[in-house]
Amino acid sequence: MKEEKFIHLCQPDDGKSCGACCGLYNYADSTRSVLVERLQRRTELFRETVRGRDDLIIFSEMIKEREDQTKLYEVIYCCEYLGFLDNGKKVGCLLHPLQNGGVDMRDASFYGKELCDGHFCPSYHYISREEKLSLINIIDDWYLYGLCVTDIDLVKEYFRIISEGVGEMPSPDEFKEGSLKDVALRFFSFKISWPFRSPATNRFGKYYFDGSQYMIKHIDYEPLGCEESRFNRIFLSLTSEFKDVGELRKAEEMIQGNIDEFVRLYSESS
Ligand code: SF4
Ligand code: SF4
Repeated sequence: MKEEKFIHLCQPDDGKSCGACCGLYNYADSTRSVLVERLQRRTELFRETVRGRDDLIIFSEMIKEREDQTKLYEVIYCCEYLGFLDNGKKVGCLLHPLQNGGVDMRDASFYGKELCDGHFCPSYHYISREEKLSLINIIDDWYLYGLCVTDIDLVKEYFRIISEGVGEMPSPDEFKEGSLKDVALRFFSFKISWPFRSPATNRFGKYYFDGSQYMIKHIDYEPLGCEESRFNRIFLSLTSEFKDVGELRKAEEMIQGNIDEFVRLYSESS
C-alpha cells in the first residue's frame, strides 16, 4: 500500500508558512502591517550582525531594546529569532540550519532545539488530512494561514457545514483555483475582516486572558433575547461580540450567505 505523504503544516509549500507557536500573534499589536515591519527589520538586523553563535546574545538584546515587547498573553513567549525567509513570503526560524549554511543554532533560543524541532501543535492531530490539504490550497498568504491553521474549531466547522451542504467532503483539489477557492478564501478572511470582532485587547480567537490564565469567552445569548446561534463555534473563533440581536442576525446572514454561495457553485460545477 502506498504510504501517504506527511503534511507539514508549519511549512506546507514555497508560498507560505506558520510561526504561531513561536509567538507570532502574541504581540499586543499583531496586525499585519506592524508584524511585517517587525519581522523585516529583525531579519535585516540578523543578516547584518550575526555571523555565528557568539553574536546571538547581542542580537537578542538589541531586539528586546528596539522592539515593543508588550504581549497579549504574558505566559506565552514571543521568540526574537522568528523572521522572514524567502523575501517575506514565509515566516520562519532565523536559527534553523537551512538559514545558516547547515549550522543549527536553535539551542540558543528560549525553548531550545529539541522543543523547536519536535513541536507539533494540536492542529496536526485534530485537523483531518483532507481538511489540511484543502486549507493549504485555499490560503496562500502567511499572515492569514497562520491565524486559520491554528484555529481548529473554525477549520472543522467550516468543512463540516459545507460538506453537509453538498453531501460530501469536497476534494482538496477543488480548492486549488477558481470560484470555489475564492468563496472559501472569503470565509477564512473573516478571521481578519470580521465586523463583529470584539475590541477587547485580551482576546484571541475564542480565548480571553484574565491576567493569570486564558479561558474560553462564551457569548451570552440571554441579553440578546435569543437561543445560541447555529454558528456559535464560528462566532467564538472570530472573537465576536454582538450589541444586539440585529447584529447577531446580520452575522448569521454573512456566514450563511457564504456557505450558500459555496453550495450553489459546487452544485453547478459537478
Ligand atoms: S502553530 Fe502548529 S503549524 Fe504553526 S508553526 Fe506551530 S506547530 Fe507549526
Ligand atoms: S528558535 Fe524556536 S521558537 Fe524561536 S523562531 Fe526558531 S523555532 Fe521558533
